[in-house]
Formats: sequence, structure tokens, C-alpha cells
Amino acid sequence: MRLTRMFVPTLREVPAEAEVVSHKLLLRAGMIRQVARGIYDFLPLGVRVLRKVEQIVREELTRAGAQEILLPAVCPAELWQASGRWDRYGKELLRFKDRHDREFCFGPTHEEVVTDLVRREIRSYRDVPLNLFQIQVKFRDEVRPRFGLMRGREFIMKDGYSFHLDREDCEREYDAMFAAYRRIFDRCGLQYRPVEADTGAIGGSRSHEFQVLAASGEDAIVSCTQCDYAANIEKAGIGVPTPAARVEAPAALADVATPGQRTIEEVATFLKLSADRFVKTLLYIVDGSETVVVLVRGDHTLSEPKLKDALGAQTVALAGEAEVEAATGAPVGFAGPIGLVRAVRIVADHALVGISGAVTGANKADTHLTGVDQARDFPDVVAADLRVAETDDACPRCEGRVTLQRGIEVGQVFYLGTKYSTALNATVLDAEGNERPLEMGTYGIGVTRTMAAAIEQNHDDAGIVWPLPLAPFQVVIVPVKWAEERLRTTAQRLYDELLALGVEVVLDDRDERPGVKFKDADLIGYPLRVTVGPRALERGAVELKQRRDADATEIPVDEAVARIAALVREGLAGF
Ligand code: ATP
Ligand code: MG
Repeated sequence: MRLTRMFVPTLREVPAEAEVVSHKLLLRAGMIRQVARGIYDFLPLGVRVLRKVEQIVREELTRAGAQEILLPAVCPAELWQASGRWDRYGKELLRFKDRHDREFCFGPTHEEVVTDLVRREIRSYRDVPLNLFQIQVKFRDEVRPRFGLMRGREFIMKDGYSFHLDREDCEREYDAMFAAYRRIFDRCGLQYRPVEADTGAIGGSRSHEFQVLAASGEDAIVSCTQCDYAANIEKAGIGVPTPAARVEAPAALADVATPGQRTIEEVATFLKLSADRFVKTLLYIVDGSETVVVLVRGDHTLSEPKLKDALGAQTVALAGEAEVEAATGAPVGFAGPIGLVRAVRIVADHALVGISGAVTGANKADTHLTGVDQARDFPDVVAADLRVAETDDACPRCEGRVTLQRGIEVGQVFYLGTKYSTALNATVLDAEGNERPLEMGTYGIGVTRTMAAAIEQNHDDAGIVWPLPLAPFQVVIVPVKWAEERLRTTAQRLYDELLALGVEVVLDDRDERPGVKFKDADLIGYPLRVTVGPRALERGAVELKQRRDADATEIPVDEAVARIAALVREGLAGF
């Protein structure tokens, strides 16, 4: 393409609305524009990147035996009511009515719709396994759409679903999709980690997220420095429990007045004790009915997904003020495991087992207890791994220690079991003629988010540094002065020859100063720049520069086309 014919409105100024680098650079490089909060136009360069991600996804899934379909974006409420998600999904689900007053939603994910399709068409075990995917616009009315394409409201997702006769076959497909996802993100040229993940609102029992490593990532991931264990921090297990802090001679239990001091920090400051001497007491409502007391050490953070797992619960929610008062007889801020007015189950994090000389709420207003000894004062607890992992915690798999990194979730695979097939009555007849609910897996990739994640991971002060497989164009040719005939004709010839070889190339035929052209080239992030300038050309040479490198190399103009084509073919290994 010739740049004078292209629609690439680059910006010099950093747009005020953008917080993260990918958002700033996508706007500045003229790839996207905001239409409404979390809703964007994709301009030509943006679309080219999008199509590249899509094409890699499509090729690898097809290679793995999945078939592409396209489901409606507008979905009838009945299917969502049948699965129970119409009520559970909350405000993220964009709902509306048609002219006949029938309810619909704009699909945020398509388990219901695809299960409905399959239940209508599939009868026998001979029809499975079946793996279907689509690449489609999704809508989630996110509470806080932000960071441009990283968390939009309207975004493009690849969502895939597989159907099987039994769990074993579904797990086999899960592994096949896991491998396909690895190939996809390898081919995108991204640094990522698959991590064990919570199954969240979609439900199911086994899941991995694919996290692109980037300091700006919204997710924290825990990985072992010695083995390949990695997990989302929500889920990450902790190996050897931290030994409880013991004081030499256990003190007697004593009331201490702590007027108005409710939080651990407040009480710790007030009593001049460190936070690890505290038993933090939280009350949770489990599966909508049972009140459970949850204990973690004062300096630790509770992980709700881990609590859910430990209790084998579907839902856990922090208790409200009234529930806290009913169980403890005290206002919020003074709860503790000793002397509760109502008998409730108590679960404690491993780090509290055996703790002594500790402090906790006294279940009385403005009062805490000191000298608390777990074994003596509240022996009836179920110990579990409940807290959020921290740097240097023990790996749950090996002798190693863990580190924390930031990541951007670009994909997730789930083993779903029969959750949706049972709800929607999607069954097949097995070889013996028995009717069985289909086993399902579900597999998503954020196509637009992948585009943003690629930038978060690959940029510098001057702009985007696209990995070659995702770049909107592979090469830009910059004649430093378009008006000069010798430069123009050389640039034009290189351009024509590269095009003929199938190289994706832009010719910067604008009448701009070289500085402007270089700035735009760096901002847009073409992996390779060819500069046609008067001095080099006198020596019969042009300059070749990779976006990743600081320096350019001169090469004979007669060899330029072959060298560039080879570099592009070989993924730009070096000159
Ligand atoms: P998150 O935890 O970031 O909200 P999710 O786990 O709810 O995402 P999934 O249901 O797993 O998302 O959707 C599959 C993929 O779609 C995600 O891995 C992510 O890459 C992408 N995605 C989800 N929500 C958004 C969004 N608001 N904007 C852009 N991409 C998104
Ligand atoms: Mg997810």
C-alpha cells in the first residue's frame, strides 16, 4: 500500500483518556478510535492486526480438528433461563426486548446457544466428539471498561465448545486444545504462561488460563522457580504451611479495650503489635444459606476461590452486618473464633494452626482478646489452604519457592462436565442405547485483547514493536525525499518487487520530512524499515533497520529485495 492512499490518522499527542501503553499506542498509531466507553472503531491497520490473530487462531484450531461456525450475537432469553444464567449473570449481560416484548441478550459467551444447536442435531455416540468454534463480537457490560482493548465492553472473542460421550474423551480434547493454544500463542510471537485457573462464573472443574507476561497485566500469577507449576494467584496452592508465630510462654487470655479500632491495621497500631500476630475473622455466607467463620493470619489475604474449593461450595459471599451481629453478638470489626453466640463452622488457614500469643476480636463491641492460643482456645477448626500466595512461599508441587509475575489473560480452557448439557437436556445414546448427557469443554481466546497484550509486551518509547506474525505490514519503505526522482524510482522499484514476492509492504510516498516518516514508522511498529537516502544510494546501497534494533545496516540495493524477503520468511532472525 502507498501511504498517501491509506487511512492512518496517527497522533503526536498522547490521548488523555488512555492509561495503559497499548491503549495509547493503538490510538496514536491510528489503529482504533473510541466510539463509546469500551466500544471502538477498528481502522485499517487495526483490522489487519486483528485478522492476523484470527487467522492464526483459525488455522491452529482447524488443524486440531475443530470446525468453524457462526452463532447469533443476539440470543433468546429462554436458553439463558434454562441454564439458570439469566438470573445469575448479573448486569454484565446486556438484555433487551424486541417489538413483541420478547427478551433477548447480546451474547457474552455462547454455551447455551451452542448446546441448544447440538442437542437438536446430535442423537448418537457416533456423532461425537464434536468441536465447534466461532470468532465473533461479544458484549459484556463490564463495570469498569478500561485500558482500551484490554477490557472493552464490545470485543472479539474466539469461543469454542466440544462435546463428548464421556469424561475421558473430553479430557483428551482439553489436552488437544491446550496444545493448540500453545501453538497459537507461540505463533503470535508472544511470551506467555499457561496457568491453573479458577473456573469462575462459567463453572466446571478444570481450567487453565493463558497469560501473556507483562508488567501492566491485571492478573497476578504465581510460578515456581524450579518446576513448571504456575497458577493464577486466586487459585495458587501453597506448599509447606508457614509455621505459626509462637511466643515462648503462652499468655493468659485477656480482654483489651480497643474503642473504635476495627481493622487489623488500626488494632495493630493501637496495640503496637505486628499484623502477623492477629487472627483475622471473616464471616461468609456459603451457598446462600450457611454462615461460616473464616480465619486467616492478620498479614495474609483470603482467596475466595480457594475458600470455595476448600468448602466444596458453589458460592461464597461476605456476610452482611446483620448476619455478623447475629453470629457474634457484636458489631462488625470485633468478631473472633472464641465464644461465638451462634454455633457455626470455623475454617482456618494452615498458618493459624498452633498460633499462640495472638490477638482476635472478642465478639464484644470495642473489645479484642490477647493471649489467644489456637490449640487451647479454639481447637475445633478445619485447617485448609485459604490464603493468597506470596513471593517465596513454598511450591505446592516441589521443594522450590514461587515468584509472582503480572499477566494478561488472553485465553482460557475449561473442562465443563455436564453442567450445560444437563440443564439444557443435551443427550446422546451410547452404544448400549442408554441416554447420556454430553460431556463438554469450552475454550476462549480474546482476539482483541491479544492484540493489546502484544503491544503491552512489545513496545518502547517510540511506539509499537510488533512481533512479525502480528504486524499490520511487515516492511515500510521510506524514501527520505519523495520529490527526488532517483530516490522515488528506487523506492518504487523495491516496493513493486517486494509486493510481487508476497511481502506485506508500505511505501511512504508522502511529501514529509524524513523525521516525520521515521517517527510514524516507529510508532506503527513495522518490523523492518528500508530507508532510501541520497548518500547511501550514491554508494549503490539502501539502509535496512529492524524495529527491535537500534542500528541500521547498509546493503547493496541490488540485493535488498532478496535479503528482505528472506528476513521476512525466516521471521527476521538477524542480518
Ligand atoms: P476477565 O477475568 O479478564 O474478565 P473472563 O475470565 O471473564 O475475563 P472468559 O469468559 O474466560 O473471560 O473469556 C475468554 C477470553 O475473552 C478471555 O480469556 C479474555 O481474553 C477475553 N475477554 C474477556 N472479557 C474481555 C473484555 N471485557 N475485553 C476484552 N477481552 C475480554
Ligand atoms: Mg477467563
